[in-house]
Amino acid sequence: MIPAAQASLQQAPSPASAAVGPTPSAAGARWQALWRDAVRDPRELLALLGLSDAALALSDAAAAQFPLRVPRGFVARMRHGDPNDPLLRQVLPLDEEMRPMPGFSLDAVGDGAAKAGHGVIRKYNGRALLIATGSCAIHCRYCFRRHFPYAEETAAAGGWRDAVAAIGADAGIDEVILSGGDPWSLATPKLEELTEALAQVPHLKRLRIHTRLPVVLPERVDAALQAWLERLPWPVAVVLHANHANEFDAEVEAAARRLRVSGATLLNQAVLLRGVNDSVEALAALSERSYAAGVLPYYLHQLDRVQGSAHFEVGDERARALHRQLAARLSGYLVPKLVREVAGDPGKRPL
Ligand SMILES: *Cc1c(COP(=O)(O)O)cnc(C)c1O
Ligand code: SF4
Repeated sequence: MIPAAQASLQQAPSPASAAVGPTPSAAGARWQALWRDAVRDPRELLALLGLSDAALALSDAAAAQFPLRVPRGFVARMRHGDPNDPLLRQVLPLDEEMRPMPGFSLDAVGDGAAKAGHGVIRKYNGRALLIATGSCAIHCRYCFRRHFPYAEETAAAGGWRDAVAAIGADAGIDEVILSGGDPWSLATPKLEELTEALAQVPHLKRLRIHTRLPVVLPERVDAALQAWLERLPWPVAVVLHANHANEFDAEVEAAARRLRVSGATLLNQAVLLRGVNDSVEALAALSERSYAAGVLPYYLHQLDRVQGSAHFEVGDERARALHRQLAARLSGYLVPKLVREVAGDPGKRPL
């Protein structure tokens, strides 16, 4: 994990959060203990699933570049004894990642160029992405984050001051998107510090949170987080990230329910990934399972072409065909928009 983010996780809860949260212990909230207990050894993960490493080309080099990290509750949703499990494929460091592939780069979406040094990325009209932390509860092998030195670029670094000042100085921003890494990696008092500062910016109309935590560690949606959400002065959209129907279980559905009770609108973005969800059956099941949990499909992303992710790529023609078949099968509101992020574009580019 990234040291700066680790430091914030280990912070003791402030008295303000203790008043609304579960009884705090010296070790912090329960989700933080579960976070620390994540599986980090690829061989332990295989052993938990009854798999031998003979069945899979594990790569120590890939794991050294971007370590395995997966919460035990997510592991419990993987199928025992199946080396092709769609959840396992998302997290296991494999040899294939180390094959160099032309066109797959270190900064695939041009965020490097868009960074302004205070953790705020403004590429699209009206919206500012705030890099709240570089830390994540799970490490997804296809993610740009495997290369991006977000640890040094987070808005938390200057006590949020520079980030909030940059947003405050630009009246064209009406929506702030908390992103990362995973913004809900931060302890709730830290989030509260940020949103109290943002509440002083008069031109903000909406808050959005891009997070995978309610899916991979649903215990994160605890009473303290709910109380924080309920106090926010803006309408809040929470954009989750699940790629496969099997990522939903009763715990995740309960967490989604708690978020809705707290007033959030729930959306899901998924990445189209070969070997994970590249069939119309898998995509339809994902939409249906999301909706059953109160989460509307939002985006289906074509992979960002980051080094080490080529083996997950689905070609554009196949992606379009899958999307057409999905649209022919499902209610319109269950069909996510198929998009790709192209550096320099004014928004996600529809395929
Ligand atoms: C994806 C993204 C957004 C959000 O785009 P929406 O289409 O509104 O979901 C905003 N800013 C940046 C930099 C992004 O990459
Ligand atoms: S930013 Fe999201 S997709 Fe990337 S590693 Fe973190 S949780 Fe996974």
